[in-house]
Amino acid sequence: MNASRYGAVIIGAGPAGEVAASRLNAQDVKVALVERELVGGECAYWACIPSKTLLRPPETRSEAERVAGVSAPAIAWAEVAAYRDFMIRNLDDGGQVDGYRDQGVDVFKGDGRIAGPGLVEVGGQTLQTERIVIATGSDARIPAIDGLEEAGYWTNREATTLAEVPESIVILGGGPVGVELGQFMRRFGARVTIVEHGERLLAREDPAVGELIARTLREEGIGLRLGARAVGVSRREGERVVRLDGGEEVAGRELLVATGRAPRVHGMGLENVGIQPDAKGLKIDERCRAADGVWAIGDVTGVLPFTHVGMYQGRITAADIAGKPVSADYTAIPRVVFCDPEIAAVGLTESQAREQSFEVATARVALADAIARPWTYEQNPRGELGLIADRDREVLVGAWAVAPMAGEWIHYAALAIKTKTPISVLRDTVAQFPTFTEAYLKGVESLGH
Ligand SMILES: Cc1cc2nc3c(=O)[nH]c(=O)nc-3n(C[C@H](O)[C@H](O)[C@H](O)COP(=O)(O)OP(=O)(O)OC[C@H]3O[C@@H](n4cnc5c(N)ncnc54)[C@H](O)[C@@H]3O)c2cc1C
Repeated sequence: MNASRYGAVIIGAGPAGEVAASRLNAQDVKVALVERELVGGECAYWACIPSKTLLRPPETRSEAERVAGVSAPAIAWAEVAAYRDFMIRNLDDGGQVDGYRDQGVDVFKGDGRIAGPGLVEVGGQTLQTERIVIATGSDARIPAIDGLEEAGYWTNREATTLAEVPESIVILGGGPVGVELGQFMRRFGARVTIVEHGERLLAREDPAVGELIARTLREEGIGLRLGARAVGVSRREGERVVRLDGGEEVAGRELLVATGRAPRVHGMGLENVGIQPDAKGLKIDERCRAADGVWAIGDVTGVLPFTHVGMYQGRITAADIAGKPVSADYTAIPRVVFCDPEIAAVGLTESQAREQSFEVATARVALADAIARPWTYEQNPRGELGLIADRDREVLVGAWAVAPMAGEWIHYAALAIKTKTPISVLRDTVAQFPTFTEAYLKGVESLGH
């Protein structure tokens, strides 16, 4: 066999694979990076980057509408779309590939397949290594709904690279992707209906979070069908018509499926290294090892489907390969939904804390009643902060916020949870006036002593 030898072969160049590649390369490990589509992965071209870029212009307009004495700015879709195209590099990863090659990383474009322990095949070549890192990410999970395939649908890929905003759209799924893309399209004029089989949006979060954002979306004119299951799809007069289990029909020019993610595990030769994925993905230990000489990182592990988690696991893997003692800790990873107002959460929800038998104390702070910043920030100020604490240990175990820039200031809670900062210390910590961060003092004071 004529095989090239590498210190590590990474399959998948999304954010997880990229961090592992860069870190290992910096550790003088000779790296082969295998990518079948675009270096940068889902995040850079069809997920995080385009969605946040598209949400920002209407967020700016909404901010202007809420500030006294400011007239709402106009938004030109053509320029928004052009900037989105710039941000997704016009779906061209040539610069990224060159960048890696300049650093000494060998990039192989093609489908990576594990042929056996320490062997990866790509484009007729065989790469030999003692370390394989699987970072193949996830695809949109497509539910089995009668008529869906025939009617045709969008996933996040079409929704984030769209040339024109459709006149109307039905979105299946009221999770972060459905909420973000629904608000973006509504704010660009589409008639939007979100169908969610759970009783609330953002079911993973505390109930208050889903209720607060549902109110906002309804006020903006988004139709919500909660507790409703799509049972059939058909095409009628240029529209996709979705039949719900209660008998109601909802229709839109387009149909977006946003019902979760499925790990990319098929056709990769996992059986050749004794790995059997389950529906969530590849099982890993605290060092991100999936088998002897095999690591798995990012969405394919099903741990938490966020770019920052994949990047963290990339760091853990590189450190493990460097022989450092590592153990991944997922207890204080923030979760953000970049709608307006922003939603951020970290740690446990109240019900998760109770399931873990903590002696739970909670606090809920209506920001406009408690601090000054919401009033200086906008008229009719919005926002709430929720805290979940363990009374026995006197530490925070969870927090959520629905408020402007919550994704930035949730990090205070993330650090407090991660470091198990005593609540007495949080009570004695001074936040700068006037900021949203001041709400934490009100929250921890109302948790009681
Ligand atoms: C609409 C949307 C918005 C999102 N917004 C955010 C956000 O704001 N913040 C956030 O943290 N997360 C967000 N996410 C989640 C985020 O996109 C993912 O968590 C992240 O992309 C996972 O990174 P990854 O490296 O594991 O996988 P991916 O980004 O999926 O990359 C995996 C790469 O592996 C390649 N690959 C797969 N199989 C093979 C193979 N056999 N051979 C070679 N290459 C292969 C793929 O082509 C791909 O390039 C969003 C997701 C969606 C859908």
